[in-house]
Amino acid sequence: MARMEARSAGDSVRRIKGVGSAISGTLTKLGIETVSDLLWHLPRSYEDRTTLRRIGDVEDGEAATVSGAVVAAGNERLPTGKVATKVVLDDGTGTVTLLWFNQWFQKGRFQKGQTISAYGTVRKNQWGTQIPNPEWEGLSDSLLQSSRITPVYPLTEGLSQAVLRKFIRSALEDYLPVADDPLPEEMRERVGLMGAAEAFREVHFPHSAEAVERARERLIFEELFYVQVAMALRRHRAQREPGIAFAVNRDSLDRFFKRLPFALTPAQKKVIGEIERDMAGPYPMNRLLQGDVGSGKTVVALTAMMIAFHNGCQAAMMAPTEILAEQHFLSLGQFIDGKSIRVELLTGSLTPKKAEAVRERIRTGESHLVVGTHALLQERVEFHRLGLVVIDEQHRFGVLQRANLRDKGRRPDLLVMTATPIPRTLALTVYGDLDVSRIQGMPPGRKAIRTYWKSAQGRQQIYEGIHALVKQGRQAYIVCPLIEESERLQAKAAVEMAERLRTEVFPDLAVGLLHGQMKAADKEAVMGRFRRGEIQILVATPVIEVGVDVPNASVILIEDAARFGLAQLHQLRGRVGRGREQSFCLLMADPKTEPGKQRLQAMVKHQDGFVLAEQDLKLRNTGDLWGVRQHGLPELKIADLLRDFDALDRAIAEARALVARDPELRSPECASLRRLVSETFHIDLALVN
Ligand code: ADP
Ligand code: MG
Repeated sequence: MARMEARSAGDSVRRIKGVGSAISGTLTKLGIETVSDLLWHLPRSYEDRTTLRRIGDVEDGEAATVSGAVVAAGNERLPTGKVATKVVLDDGTGTVTLLWFNQWFQKGRFQKGQTISAYGTVRKNQWGTQIPNPEWEGLSDSLLQSSRITPVYPLTEGLSQAVLRKFIRSALEDYLPVADDPLPEEMRERVGLMGAAEAFREVHFPHSAEAVERARERLIFEELFYVQVAMALRRHRAQREPGIAFAVNRDSLDRFFKRLPFALTPAQKKVIGEIERDMAGPYPMNRLLQGDVGSGKTVVALTAMMIAFHNGCQAAMMAPTEILAEQHFLSLGQFIDGKSIRVELLTGSLTPKKAEAVRERIRTGESHLVVGTHALLQERVEFHRLGLVVIDEQHRFGVLQRANLRDKGRRPDLLVMTATPIPRTLALTVYGDLDVSRIQGMPPGRKAIRTYWKSAQGRQQIYEGIHALVKQGRQAYIVCPLIEESERLQAKAAVEMAERLRTEVFPDLAVGLLHGQMKAADKEAVMGRFRRGEIQILVATPVIEVGVDVPNASVILIEDAARFGLAQLHQLRGRVGRGREQSFCLLMADPKTEPGKQRLQAMVKHQDGFVLAEQDLKLRNTGDLWGVRQHGLPELKIADLLRDFDALDRAIAEARALVARDPELRSPECASLRRLVSETFHIDLALVN
């Protein structure tokens, strides 16, 4: 016997009436898997159908809602061979024909005498008054009908507005009465927010435009509040439980610095000072190291790793790709004394036997510094004594993965590195749980990168320029056009481009290829040859976006540059300008849109990532807030970090106050908040069960 189970918003959406396996697959495409997802699938806009039009009064071309009794319904084969479904409505002032083509099944959905309302664009012609492809609903649909402002949802293929509205209505009816409001009532009153049930009802099927506004206000606050509670919890913990207090050994550090092939810049020294202070302190370090591409973050991280090593601890560094992990591994090897320090590389492409040997050495403590990819996160990776976690985030890892690696030690210190120049206004939201250090400026001897924007007509000239530079001993990147739709197509385009460049354009040069579908070992081999100068021109898909460091590469050509966002273009450009030679960035593009042109102009004009980020925010058209999304925050559905500034401020203050009062969210009115936050952000709260 089936047992009646308690309903919760975390239930699968399949518990909603009418949602079977096929349609749930379709809903998944919209990111809807649970009832809660469904409730948070908010209208994109609304149609005001407040005024019912008399059928006798409607005019050609107007978008109208009419209602009446079905007086006829039938299918007709037209001379063209098409089947027309015609349903005639009569409201006493006139008749209108609802019309569908080749959808014979529509007819079966109507019964004579039934009253319905229909909405669509009216067409008046020799066949009378018609509404082709209308939206309609039966008048017994009480909630839909009584709502006079109708929601319009983002859809996907195989799903109609009418069907989605029905599901959402079911969710509202079945789930809201049993749901607790996750926002404590006392706070809701103080801030002046609508209750959850009312807010969801009004946002989906509003009674008035004003009610929509108030509902949105509540949901915006709620969304921001969750993130801020999670941040506040992390902050609180970080400031409470002691970690490792490292001793900073001057002599050992100085010996390490002397081995470096360069002198540290004042900016690097400053952030190293901040890191030393954190590591020496009793609480675990929680630091974000922000520095533009090429600013020299790696050696700063390595310094922190050396401090851990001097204290008999292991240090782990996680990079987002195998190429990067390998590169870090190589540069670490280059900077340290390999006799006394054992550095290990752990990636997914090691043979099982080798990987096991590496894990064994990590487990026993024989290895001191470990560099790797997500492979480090696997459960069977255990550390002997992990004291420091470095994450070269490059906006690829989320908050979650940070936490996972950290859990492999006993409250180890944490250093996150990012090249994303998040404007100050957003940093608090994205990194509310971290302290921020910033490397300002570049190592000395760098020349500003010269950036040019060229139309595709100038291609020949550009190729000649690249050829001349390579002949002088430089190396070049050529980045293929971005194909977001498919990795396979992206790879294919890269293969073709490399082939053409190799045979037709640069037959006398060594052209290499790097794309995302290549095996890790092959990628590494290509990168190795490029590093050693055996490849002169590297054709790549946008994978080289992240941290590749080949100082002799001084030209980058970005094809179809207008398809990239500013953040991405800036990252790509950062591949060059790492050596002493003059570097060039060539943007090839013929943008059709104004924002596209503005992005390219901004690239030509500005080098500084922070300035570009601010420009981007002003342009506001990329939708890419410099990687905010990739920073592991759930995608915001309704709040907008720029627009909803006041709400954000308020949410931060309320969240911090709440956590200060109730650090484990133990109080009864926090029960559902606790569940939500711990599930969404994977925070381990003592009382969650
Ligand atoms: P990113 O911040 O993008 O990770 P890297 O750490 O890869 O930058 O450094 C970029 C390049 O600058 C590397 O080749 C590195 O060896 C070099 N570098 C770092 N610090 C200095 C310095 N103080 N003086 C000269 N070169 C440096
Ligand atoms: Mg780097």
